[in-house]
Amino acid sequence: MPALMDKIADALHLHKKSATPTFDHTKVTVIFVLGGPGAGKGTQCSLLVQDFGFCHLSAGDLLRAEQHREGSQFGTLIQNCIKEGTIVPMEVTVKLLENAMAAAIKEEKGKDGWRDGRGRFLIDGFPRQMDQAIKFDEDVCLASTVLFFSTTEEVMLGRLLERGKTSGREDDNVESIKKRFNTYNQTTMPVIKHYEALGKVVQIDSSETVEQVHSHSKAAVQKILDN
Ligand code: ADP
Ligand code: AMP
Repeated sequence: MPALMDKIADALHLHKKSATPTFDHTKVTVIFVLGGPGAGKGTQCSLLVQDFGFCHLSAGDLLRAEQHREGSQFGTLIQNCIKEGTIVPMEVTVKLLENAMAAAIKEEKGKDGWRDGRGRFLIDGFPRQMDQAIKFDEDVCLASTVLFFSTTEEVMLGRLLERGKTSGREDDNVESIKKRFNTYNQTTMPVIKHYEALGKVVQIDSSETVEQVHSHSKAAVQKILDN
């Protein structure tokens, strides 16, 4: 009989303990920052760090650092994904973010917004695929909001080609940019739709000047932190 009960419980997923996230979302505020490549996510995050003392973690930057880390087993995999504009597997990306969050909570301890195990993060360029969103919310920390910077592909292409003149990035060229737009439309837009359905998205038109976009972003983040 117990075996039968076990089978029924398994079928109903009653044995599956709900995972406890590593960080408590009542203490650690996570804001995801999404938008197409070149929408201006990184630029706005840097300004919001100055306004509110966030720790800004860019998934792309963490992946590039891992790609170049001596002894990394993921270097070639990451390099190929970046060049092709595809999604680096979740296991790598989520782990890098989780480690960086733990390090920041240690480092920033005592500063405004960071006392008693508290923290505030802008997680830029993440989640780009649904599996990452679910994994992060369940296992790492439930995100409060998605800041969604939107503009046209024409604007993004122009900005990326301009950035490409000095960035040294292997993916700031027309061929990679087209692939990145495709991944964004096919894979990341559904993530934004998912959070929209949960009422968690704040959309900001990033077609305007850096200063204008910043003024809208700052007001939006102030509201989030006041809640
Ligand atoms: P993302 O992080 O979304 O890929 P970035 O913040 O790196 O985008 O911005 C891409 C490029 O466009 C950078 O060279 C940046 O200086 C420039 N840029 C960012 N925001 C604006 C803006 N509002 N107007 C004009 N140029 C911008
Ligand atoms: P970015 O620096 O945000 O423009 O990202 C550059 C590249 O890094 C992307 O085209 C992907 O190949 C990879 N990347 C960035 N963020 C993620 C993520 N959240 N998940 C998987 N791959 C990512």
